[in-house]
Amino acid sequence: MIFNPQMSVRQFGSHFGPNDWSVKWPADEIYEYGLVPVPGIILDFHQGHDPLSDSLDTQKRFAADIRPFLAQCKWIDQPQIAIVEWQSSAVLGGLPRQVLARELTSTTGNGPLTGPTSLDRKRFIERFGRDVYRFSAPDFHRLEHNYLRDSDCDRDHELSESSLNLLVDAYLREYHEASQQLFPQALLDQIVAASELILRAWTRRIESSSRSADSWLSISIRQQFDSQCASFLGAGSVCTHDPESGGRGPRILSAFNASLMEIRAGVTVSSSTTTLSDEYNSGIEKICELISQVTLEVRQADCAVLDDGVRVDNISIPLLSPSAMIQIIVDRSCVSKSAFRGLIGRVSGADVAAQLSPKLSERCDRELVHLGTGFPAAQGAAVGVLCCDPDNANALVAKGYPVIFCANTPGPEQMTAVFLASGLLFGTGGATSHVAVIARGAGLPCILGIAGLIVDTAGHYASFGTEIIREGEWIAMDGNTGSVYRGKGELEPPPDSASMSTRQLLKECDKLARIHVYANADTASEAGAAYGLGAQGIGLCRIEHMLLRPERLSLLQRILVALFACQDLTDLRYTARRRVSQYQKSEGASELLQEAELKCLESRAYQTYIADLRCLEEFLTDDIRGLIDVSAGRNVVIRLLDPPLSEFLNEAAIDLVSESLSLSSAVKTRLRAFVGERNPMLGLRGIRLCLRAPELTDAQLRGIFRAAASSAANLCPVNLDILVPFVSDPGELIALRSRANSIADEVLCDRGGEVRYRVGAMVETPRAAILSEEIARVADFLSFGTNDLTQFTWACSRDSSEGSVFSGGVYCDQEFEPFSIFDKSGVGRLIALAISSARRASPDITIGVCGEYGGDPRALEFFGQVGVNYVSCALSSIPVARLRAGQLSLEGDNFGD
Ligand code: PEP
Ligand code: MG
Repeated sequence: MIFNPQMSVRQFGSHFGPNDWSVKWPADEIYEYGLVPVPGIILDFHQGHDPLSDSLDTQKRFAADIRPFLAQCKWIDQPQIAIVEWQSSAVLGGLPRQVLARELTSTTGNGPLTGPTSLDRKRFIERFGRDVYRFSAPDFHRLEHNYLRDSDCDRDHELSESSLNLLVDAYLREYHEASQQLFPQALLDQIVAASELILRAWTRRIESSSRSADSWLSISIRQQFDSQCASFLGAGSVCTHDPESGGRGPRILSAFNASLMEIRAGVTVSSSTTTLSDEYNSGIEKICELISQVTLEVRQADCAVLDDGVRVDNISIPLLSPSAMIQIIVDRSCVSKSAFRGLIGRVSGADVAAQLSPKLSERCDRELVHLGTGFPAAQGAAVGVLCCDPDNANALVAKGYPVIFCANTPGPEQMTAVFLASGLLFGTGGATSHVAVIARGAGLPCILGIAGLIVDTAGHYASFGTEIIREGEWIAMDGNTGSVYRGKGELEPPPDSASMSTRQLLKECDKLARIHVYANADTASEAGAAYGLGAQGIGLCRIEHMLLRPERLSLLQRILVALFACQDLTDLRYTARRRVSQYQKSEGASELLQEAELKCLESRAYQTYIADLRCLEEFLTDDIRGLIDVSAGRNVVIRLLDPPLSEFLNEAAIDLVSESLSLSSAVKTRLRAFVGERNPMLGLRGIRLCLRAPELTDAQLRGIFRAAASSAANLCPVNLDILVPFVSDPGELIALRSRANSIADEVLCDRGGEVRYRVGAMVETPRAAILSEEIARVADFLSFGTNDLTQFTWACSRDSSEGSVFSGGVYCDQEFEPFSIFDKSGVGRLIALAISSARRASPDITIGVCGEYGGDPRALEFFGQVGVNYVSCALSSIPVARLRAGQLSLEGDNFGD
C-alpha cells in the first residue's frame, strides 16, 4: 500500500525536461530525519526564459500529461482523500492554499471501510465547488435553505440521510445546469482540476507581471487519512519543544483521533488524546527523537497513525509563543552562535517588551466593557480607580488605591496627579506630546487622544461616549493597545523564567550591536531602573523634568515668573556689568553698576528669584549626584533647562506667583503676553532662555558641577556630558561653553582632573542641522532631538497637529504621520546631511539621537545607516531598542560598518 515515489520520479523524468516541470520526493526533509512520509508527490514548476510561450506550453503539456501520470502512480487508486497544496514565489491572490479532494464514488480501492457519508458528500461538494470551480455559494445555499425549511431543521447535520442524499443530487444537477459539466466524483479528476486551477493562476500571474526568470510554483499532492480508511488509527501533531515555554522534549499538540485535515486546520489537544494507546503515543514521541538526532531546531510533525506505523504528512516550524521563541534562541545560543544569529531575526520588539512588563489578562478584553481606544503613547498596563480631579489624587493614593488619572487635555495643573498615578488617560495629544514623554520616562502607561472622552473635573466623572465612570470606580487600561475598560481587570506579571531568558537574549544582542542604547531618565531611581533594563548610559536627563515633581513645580513656576517680572532689572545689571568689564575706565560705568545692584537689592521679586535659584541649585546638586553615583562611570548627559512655557505656566500659576511677589498689574499683563506665545513650543526655549537669564544658567551649571565634584570626592568615576538644547547657531554654544568652563573652574577647583565633562549641542532646529559643520567645530558631541526637529521641519506643532493636519485629509494621496512614523525622506534626509557635514568638521564626533524615535525599532535602522553612535530612549523602549540594535548588526552590509 505504500507509495513508491522512485518509480514515479522515473516516470516523470521521461516525460518532462528540467526547464519545464519536475517531480520530487514528497518532502526531502522527512527522509532526512529517517521518517516515513504519507504517499505523495511534489510537482515543481520554474519559469523559463520566455515566460509567455514557456508557461503556455507548460500548461498545455501539464493538462495532457498529468492525468495519465497520476493514474499510473501506485497510490492514486488507494486513498479516499488527498490534499492539493501550493507554494509559489508569486502571490496568487484569491486561491485557497489547499484543496481537499475526496473520492465520492463508493467502490474504489481496498482501503476504505465505508464511503463518505451523505453529510460529508454534501459539504465536500459545497467546498470543492467554491474553491475550484468558483461556483457561487448562493446557488447551493438556496437549495439547502429549501431542504432545511421543508424538513423543519436549522442545520444540515439535522437533516435525515434521505434528505441529504436528495440535496446532494440537487447540488449535482444545479452544478451541471449552470456549468454544462458533470461535477467530478473521482479523486483523480478532482486532483487534476485543482492542480490545473493552481497552474492557471500562476501562469496568469507571471504573464501579467514583469519578466522574472526565477518565478516558481510547487504543487504538493498528498494522500490524507481519516476514519474511513481501514488502517487509520488516528492523526496528530507533535513538536520537538513545548510551543508555550520553549522547553525541549516532545509535546503532543493535536488530537490523535482527528483527521489530518483537521490537524492542519489547527484542532488542538483534546481529552480524546488519551483514547490512543501508550504504544501510539510513544510511537509519535519517537518521531521527535528521530528529528532531534538530526537537528536541534524546533520542528513540528503532522502525522497519521496507521496500523502498520506512523506516516508523516508535513514537517514545519510551529507557531511558538514569544517566550518559547526566546527560550529556544537562548538555549541554542549556548551551543551555537550561528544558530543565535540565524534565529534572532524572528523575535519582534513587541515579543520582548511583553516578556518584561505586566499585561492585562485576556479576560479583560472578553469580559469587561470596552470604554474606548486612543493612541498608545506609553506602554504597559494599569488597573486602578478613576481620578478626574488632580486635587483628589493624593487622597485616593493615601487610601491605598492605585489611581488612573484622566483629563481632557494635559496641563501643568495636573503634574501632581501625573506623578502619583499608575496610569494616564487624556482626550487629546499624540506620540510626542510632552505628557507622553514624561509618562514614558516615568514608566507609566499612557493613552492619549481617546475619542469620545469628556472629563468633568468639577462633576468628578468621565464619560467615554455613553458610558459614565465616576471618580473612584475601577477601570483598566492597556497602554500597548490603547484600550480602556470599565471594571477591576487583572494584571499579570511576566513569569520569572520568561524575563530571565529575555534578559539573556538581550545581552547577546548587546555583544553584536554597533549602536549603543542609552536611556532618557531624570532621577537616580529611573536611571537605576534603566540600567536594570540594560541601558548603557543616560543619554538625556531633562532638568525641567527634575522639577516637575509636585513639591518643586511651584519653585520652577516662581523662577519663571520672576525671570520675566525682573527682566528690566536683570537687563540693567547685565549691561552695567558688561560695561564695567569692557570699559572699566569709562565714565560712570561703576556708578551704573552700583545703581543696578541697589535696585536689585530693593526689589522683592528679584531677591526671591535669587533665593529660589539657590534652592534650585541645591536640588540639582543632590539629584545629579544621585544620577552620577548610580551610573558608576557610565555616560550621563544632563540637558540644561528647556521648558516649553505652556507646559509649566498657566494663568492660575501666574496669578498665584504674581500675588506672592506683589507684582503690579502692568507687570502681570506684560508677563501674560510673554508667556502666552502663540505657539509655545517655539520662541524662548533652551539656549535662548539660558542666554536671557544668565543667573538661571549659572545656577544649573553650578548644581551640575557641584554634583560632579561631590561624586568624584567619593571616588565615583564621573563621565559627564552637558547638553545644550535648542541651539541654532555656533555662537550660542560658544557663549554657553565659556560660561560652563568658568563655572567648572570655580566649582571643581582641584578636582578638575577627576571630572571629565564635555559640552554638546542638541540638533533640533533645522538651522542647527544646516549649520552642523560649524556647530560640530565647537561642540564635543551632537544629539538629535527628533521631537522638535520633526515639528520644525514640518512646521506642525508636535502637540496638536496630528489630528488636524495629518489625519484631516490634507494629504490625500500620501499618508504622512511624522509624529508616529519616522519621516525618513524629510527629517531623515536632514539628519543624514547634518551628520555628514558634522563629520567633515570633526570626523570622530559622537552623535546621538534622544527624541522619541531613539527607541523606535523602525527608525533605528535608519540611524544606524547614517552613522549614529547611540540612541537614547524612554525606559519602556530600552529592551526593544537593544533587540533591534543587535538584529541590525546582522542585517545587510551597509549598516554600521
Ligand atoms: C526632542 O526635541 O527631540 C527632545 C528630546 O527634546 P524635548 O522632547 O524635551 O523637547
Ligand atoms: Mg526638544
